[in-house]
Amino acid sequence: MLRLSLPNIGDDGVEAVARVLRSGQLVHGQEGELFEAELAAYVGSREAVVVSSGTAALHLSLAALGIGPGDAVLVPDFTFPATANAVRLLGARPVLVDVEAGSYSVSADQLAEAADAWQGPEVLRAVMPVHEFGYPVDMAPVMAMARDRNLFVVEDAACALGARCGDRKAGAWGDLGCFSFHPRKTLTTGEGGAVVTDNPELAARLRLLRNHGMRRGPSGMDFLEPGYNYRLTNFQSALGRTQLASLPGWLERRRELADVYLDLLAPLAAAGRLSLPTTVSGHSWQTFMVVLRDGLERARVIEQLRDQGIEANLGAQCLSALGIYGALAGRRAGAPVAPVLFAQGLALPFCEQLGEDDLARVAHALSKAG
Ligand SMILES: *Cc1c(COP(=O)(O)O)cnc(C)c1O
Repeated sequence: MLRLSLPNIGDDGVEAVARVLRSGQLVHGQEGELFEAELAAYVGSREAVVVSSGTAALHLSLAALGIGPGDAVLVPDFTFPATANAVRLLGARPVLVDVEAGSYSVSADQLAEAADAWQGPEVLRAVMPVHEFGYPVDMAPVMAMARDRNLFVVEDAACALGARCGDRKAGAWGDLGCFSFHPRKTLTTGEGGAVVTDNPELAARLRLLRNHGMRRGPSGMDFLEPGYNYRLTNFQSALGRTQLASLPGWLERRRELADVYLDLLAPLAAAGRLSLPTTVSGHSWQTFMVVLRDGLERARVIEQLRDQGIEANLGAQCLSALGIYGALAGRRAGAPVAPVLFAQGLALPFCEQLGEDDLARVAHALSKAG
């Protein structure tokens, strides 16, 4: 079976984990400190704080900004539900914003329009652009629209470690940037995540909330406020460090393979059977998703590909199409994009371990589907 993606764990990763397990230092320790320093340097942020998942990263970020009841946060309508869940779990209201048809991500214009249309009663406090599947949202205008309106920016870069927008990496632009190290992402620690920021006060607050709101002082442990346990283990950090060393090469390979897919699938796009994702040079290609046109029924295509030994699946969720978020959809003009991406998006096998012959097999099977 040609799988959607495979974690890429080398012998160096296995050995690093074994070394930490034998050391007995299992919770956040030296490996965690080193992983944080290396991540901050890689992303180009002053600070990185490693946590137990991408969802923990999002939840902790909003908590560190003091987002809570009475607040509203702009969230793209096409994403993994964790983006909106983090807002909701703090008692705030996600306001769903439609996305672009080719990048599958929100633009600064879409965020600005939604911010200006917002009428409350909750107070709009933050925007959460999602770099969906590694597409780097153009962040300079997002930062400008947010500063003009006095809004915080929390980047959901869960899929986008290593993506680049202009002269900075995804995650490094906002007040806070969040990453996931789930096995479905390019760099994995099993479960895991990180928050990056240039603001030392926010970093200190993230570290406090990550660890029970506890601070060690001269008189022992002080519990300053109720916090979480969102720590990453030391052996996961050791694994992450080996992964980070390999990441640049993996991303280079993914960019080559994405170009191969775009070439192979161009005739199907020209024939109107599917549409292809927008490509930009900084894309980190965590997932390669096409959008099937009306003539192709997704469930049927997934089944036909499975019969050929090829795994394919939907890409991400449309939040307003889910029961728990449907009530937040509101009225919308025109034909929204997110529901179409949710209904007709098809993620294809994609990771750096694949060969061009694997991609050709997928393209051939897709050309026969219908
Ligand atoms: C994967 C993902 C998350 C959640 O990350 P976990 O590590 O699984 O908690 C959040 N947002 C987006 C956009 C994601 O792709």
